[in-house]
Amino acid sequence: MKLSTPLVLVYHGVCKGDALAFNSRFIPESEFEKHLNFFKNECKVLSLDEISTPVNKDKLSIIITFDDGYLNNLTNAVPLLEKYGLPASFCVCNPNENQILWSDALDIAVKMYPEDSVELKGKRFILGREKSFIRDTIIRGTYKEMDDLIHQALDKIKDMSDLNEYWQLMSEEDLKAIDENKHFKLIPHGSRHVSASYAQDQLWQKDFSDSVTYIQSISKEKVSCFAYPYGHVNMDVVKYLRERHGIRQHLLVDSMGTGNDLVPRFVINPHISFDLLKRFMYWGKY
Ligand SMILES: [Zn+2]
Repeated sequence: MKLSTPLVLVYHGVCKGDALAFNSRFIPESEFEKHLNFFKNECKVLSLDEISTPVNKDKLSIIITFDDGYLNNLTNAVPLLEKYGLPASFCVCNPNENQILWSDALDIAVKMYPEDSVELKGKRFILGREKSFIRDTIIRGTYKEMDDLIHQALDKIKDMSDLNEYWQLMSEEDLKAIDENKHFKLIPHGSRHVSASYAQDQLWQKDFSDSVTYIQSISKEKVSCFAYPYGHVNMDVVKYLRERHGIRQHLLVDSMGTGNDLVPRFVINPHISFDLLKRFMYWGKY
């Protein structure tokens, strides 16, 4: 028997509406069920705790993870995971008063905002045309700048109720409900989804520490894993989390992971057919 390591998959949102309405982070609920049906019948599905288990190379072995902590994970994905009896890990940000990540606010604003520009740090940006400049500005910014963007981006959109599944995050009660299930695990993913590569050192250190401490306060298990927002990581951050918080598994979002407990992951691409996606899964990368 040839041995291999399991493929760690990354999902974000699972939605009932148009999955590609705002970005590439959502897949339709019906498509997600197709995936689970395939995993249940033709693959070996492991939990993240079993990542070091040697697996038979002749059969695809996978681990299911979700990033960002969307409420639709609980309402749409969890019932299907329970139906098929499959384990999963949820990499989540801390609940906060905005209940939305700035990147989702920006994606929604580009499509829905009634005006074509927003003002950030004294400059006016054209929403659609300069989206990447806005991203570059905020990813280097502070919590206050994230909050300013969120409020500016959303305050003139009159009714967001139809859009809830594209942005709403899980509350503390929701996270506790996930943690209750012994097949599910919570993993810190940064308190406010800041980048270890672009944020100031003091900001990511506080943000990541708050994230680990928070998840530890509600999780049934000792937290020993961290999922990096945007997959941004460097050896200073790994050393910090290892020494300060005993983090042993460092989850990425590409296939470049190596030793040092850096775990590569395979992000689900919603733009390609499931047949093609399966071929990439067997290959282990795109
Ligand atoms: Zn993320």
